Amino acid sequence: MMPPESPPALALVDVARRYSEGEGVIEVLRDANLAVEAGQSVALVAPSGTGKSTLLHLAGLLEHPDDGEVFVDGEPTSGLPDAERTRLRRIHVGFVYQFHHLLPELTALENVMMPQMIRGLSKRDAAARAGDLLGYLGLAKRLNHRPSELSGGEQQRVAIARALANAPRLVLADEPTGNLDPKTSDHVFGALAELVHATGVATIIATHNMELASRMDRRVTLRDGQVVELD
Ligand code: ADP
Ligand code: MG
Repeated sequence: MMPPESPPALALVDVARRYSEGEGVIEVLRDANLAVEAGQSVALVAPSGTGKSTLLHLAGLLEHPDDGEVFVDGEPTSGLPDAERTRLRRIHVGFVYQFHHLLPELTALENVMMPQMIRGLSKRDAAARAGDLLGYLGLAKRLNHRPSELSGGEQQRVAIARALANAPRLVLADEPTGNLDPKTSDHVFGALAELVHATGVATIIATHNMELASRMDRRVTLRDGQVVELD
């Protein structure tokens, strides 16, 4: 007998998101559907203003859809109390933004330890995992540097390590290399792609860079508020 199929790590089902704009309403997402399997990497390639960040915020349970449902590991999330959504987000989702948002007074190691300690890990365990992740990303010699003492590419690699610190099921990256020069961008993206494949985490990466997107398992875009498969 075949084992039961596991549900997607993330599913957006008939999701809508509207914002009021002056007198009117703009519908950024409408009947949007997207399922991301565990371990699958998806590039979200679409022009500015089409709703990429909105989609990532919904997927990361930072916002509520106006219609439809967001499923995490097959479980609907709209009815959950805020405290439970926050818990799910902390444990299951890692975010990487265009700007690193590292805490300036903490070292690289401490920045990666922080989400683990918030989750309740001991300092020793958090430091061990943070060191492993940063080492994997080529930052073994930068553990005790503060963000201001790191290059842009190094800062983004620390942010990637931080996003993966709690071994999330889902990594959401919003134009993570948008602020870097092409060569650094290529290096950082390569590190992210490698880590994503090595850990089997599901990931959605919003990017304008088609060449980088081609290294993901799937490519999707947004058209009139809907998610459309590319290729
Ligand atoms: P992208 O990330 O693809 O550039 P966004 O998801 O940020 O697009 O935005 C999609 C559209 O929704 C834009 O027109 C933007 O102005 C609008 N929008 C986003 N967030 C808000 C908000 N909080 N209030 C009003 N409009 C918003
Ligand atoms: Mg955006």
